Amino acid sequence: MTKHSDESVAKKNFDIVIVGGGLAGATMALALAPLKLSIAVIEAHPYQQEQTQPSFDDRCLALAWSSRQIYQSMGIWKQLAQRDGDGFEAIKQIHISDRGHMGVTRLDHQKEGVPALGYVVESRVLGKILIEQMQHKENIHLFCPALIEQIQSTSDEVKISLKLESLPKKNNYTVKNLSARLLIVADGVNSKTRESLGIQINQRSYAQTAIIANIETEIPHQNVAYERFTDSGPLAVLPLTRHRCSLVWTVRDEQLKEIMALNDADFTQALQQRFGYRLGQINKVGKRASYPLVLMTIDNNTLAHQNRVALIGNAAHGVHPVAGQGFNLGLRDISALAELIVNEMQTYKSGDPGNKALLDAYWQWRQADIRQVTSITNSLIKLFSNQSTALAMLRNSGLFMTDIISPLKHAIAHEAMGSGMLQGKMSKMAVGQSLF
Ligand SMILES: Cc1cc2nc3c(=O)[nH]c(=O)nc-3n(C[C@H](O)[C@H](O)[C@H](O)COP(=O)(O)OP(=O)(O)OC[C@H]3O[C@@H](n4cnc5c(N)ncnc54)[C@H](O)[C@@H]3O)c2cc1C
Repeated sequence: MTKHSDESVAKKNFDIVIVGGGLAGATMALALAPLKLSIAVIEAHPYQQEQTQPSFDDRCLALAWSSRQIYQSMGIWKQLAQRDGDGFEAIKQIHISDRGHMGVTRLDHQKEGVPALGYVVESRVLGKILIEQMQHKENIHLFCPALIEQIQSTSDEVKISLKLESLPKKNNYTVKNLSARLLIVADGVNSKTRESLGIQINQRSYAQTAIIANIETEIPHQNVAYERFTDSGPLAVLPLTRHRCSLVWTVRDEQLKEIMALNDADFTQALQQRFGYRLGQINKVGKRASYPLVLMTIDNNTLAHQNRVALIGNAAHGVHPVAGQGFNLGLRDISALAELIVNEMQTYKSGDPGNKALLDAYWQWRQADIRQVTSITNSLIKLFSNQSTALAMLRNSGLFMTDIISPLKHAIAHEAMGSGMLQGKMSKMAVGQSLF
């Protein structure tokens, strides 16, 4: 990280400061980099400590077709494709079922006329590419590891005091003052920056935790993603590179300790019971990790009073991973905000990426999509968590009817691909156009 060391940064007044250099923050910086604005990225966790980086971790992400388009417009997809077959795995079919009931819905890429319904990418692999790309951009300055000590936004600028850890000595800090015309908040669902600015949220725990692990199965996945609803929560088995599958198993909080404590053989057996034998025997289970699940939405009134602040990614919304929508939603935030900033700088030439009209237009644009994804994922969890026999029958016939009514299936497939009617206006990048 030599070029970006504290000393090498002559300029302390940036056009844009992004707090949080995880999946969303890093992607945002790269989407804006061709504009040649000066961009600072402040990341709390050292990128060198790969094993503990909280955003580029062991998670696998199901990226929708529109997310691929966004990364393709940015040139990132090409980098993933060049990774000798371990960059991504295509999802060609999605198989949705309700454990203990007959109804099943199947979505197929051929019926939608696309090469794939989505792709599965390892967060760590994507992170490596994003970090490398940021390090090669002259106009991106990385402050990492660094934390914000103080922040103040006014109608003219945002002032930030940074606490920089003077490595290698622990607990030895220097303070640096930065300013920006736009602050992009991307420090995740528990954003400290959002809190310091006084932006309030509505948050509710699902009382569920997602357990993730990579697994190997007797029968190859053949590019089918399985979403199975069970009495403790949904269970997803996604096709992954190198003949592996990625597991996301949602359990009730009270079950977590016991399931995490199982040895691999007992864990495999419990999982096999839940998932069944569609992929034959589960032969191997990799390292497990767990994530508590929350629903989080922004209080728009407290955001409306902010000057020069935009929220993206998990700092802007927290959704259940049931349909693998969280980061897809974040990518659509990024592509919308990037498009508005590029227009502002290139077409209107105001020279101000943080003006109020632009930021209001951004938040307004994103509302329909965020609301729909939050509400659909939430309703799915409610519908499939309920054990009443009447509801189970309704779900079962719902899955069965969806399977035979093609317009309904197309509509669901397009929501999964990130190009559905409910998402409102699509950004240029999400439909495969370049911004530059
Ligand atoms: C089990 C599970 C499965 C998922 N599966 C999918 C899926 O299939 N598809 C999908 O689209 N989404 C999925 N998601 C959601 C996805 O992981 C998130 O949407 C994504 O990680 C959000 O990225 P982010 O950069 O906004 O936030 P984060 O990943 O939380 O990153 C925040 C970054 O900010 C840094 N940071 C934190 N605080 C500060 C601070 N004060 N100052 C500076 N930096 C700070 C952190 O170190 C981190 O690097 C899943 C989530 C879970 C839990």
